[in-house]
Amino acid sequence: MRNAFSRLCLTTIRLVRVMMPVAALAVAWLVAPAGADPPGASHRPIWQVYAIRYATIPSFPVRALVAGADSTRELDIAMMFWVLKGPEGRRVLVDAGFYRQKFIDSWKPADFLRPSEALQRFGVPTDSVTDVIVSHVHWDHLDGADLFPNARLWIQRQEYEYYVREDGTPAHAAIDSVDAQMLAQFHAAGRVQLVPGDGKEILPGVTAYTGGRHTFASQYVGVRTAAGTVVLASDNVYLYENLDRHAPIAQTLDAHSNLAAQDRMRRIASDLRLIVPGHDPGVFARFPAVGAGVVKIE
Ligand SMILES: [Zn+2]
Repeated sequence: MRNAFSRLCLTTIRLVRVMMPVAALAVAWLVAPAGADPPGASHRPIWQVYAIRYATIPSFPVRALVAGADSTRELDIAMMFWVLKGPEGRRVLVDAGFYRQKFIDSWKPADFLRPSEALQRFGVPTDSVTDVIVSHVHWDHLDGADLFPNARLWIQRQEYEYYVREDGTPAHAAIDSVDAQMLAQFHAAGRVQLVPGDGKEILPGVTAYTGGRHTFASQYVGVRTAAGTVVLASDNVYLYENLDRHAPIAQTLDAHSNLAAQDRMRRIASDLRLIVPGHDPGVFARFPAVGAGVVKIE
């Protein structure tokens, strides 16, 4: 009787030991939010992604955006950046727009709002921005970075080293001299994180990819959201037309690499519609408006 009892106890203990992890996994699965990774996958936060339009450049030649497009076509292109709202008040921008007068004078944007004002109008204070992921060094994506006093900047190491000399002057023409100086100052202040190449998860659930070749080491970003993985292509895809026609962007150092990057974006994004191009006004028609000039990518 005693032996039988012990055996029963041991069997029960063994059973409990075997079942505990299974039960724990089952509980984890039951309490996990919709769209979460299956049990055993690493826990990564879910982000909310918004596109914010802060200006329009009227009558832009489509041929300068889509390789091989009809030279008579023009489009009022959207100037936008993207905001990721994450857990614990994390506020991340992908690109920062522009605001310096020299760019306003030469490009004459319509409906211009400083990126910082557009963000504030959406209810996000500029000093709450924790990170700015710079897709590439062009003026309309980098210039606004110093509007966000507490942000650290994420840029590909190769992009930084290719364009910015140690003395803060431009090493190549794609970066404006003012923006090169600003970037060098950020770097000297320890506020630049140099991303070491492709497929790097720089924040939990936010991954940087290279290969778009809009500039020397332009990057795009995959973001985990409740709707699945969103790809913020920035100028590695200018317009939906690039994707639809499988046409490289008109300004690229390597058209084959750009097309390969577009193909890869299709695999990374949970759905084709979740690939967001860099200047397509259609972004603001395809997604629900949640504020003036703001849509939620979902
Ligand atoms: Zn651009």
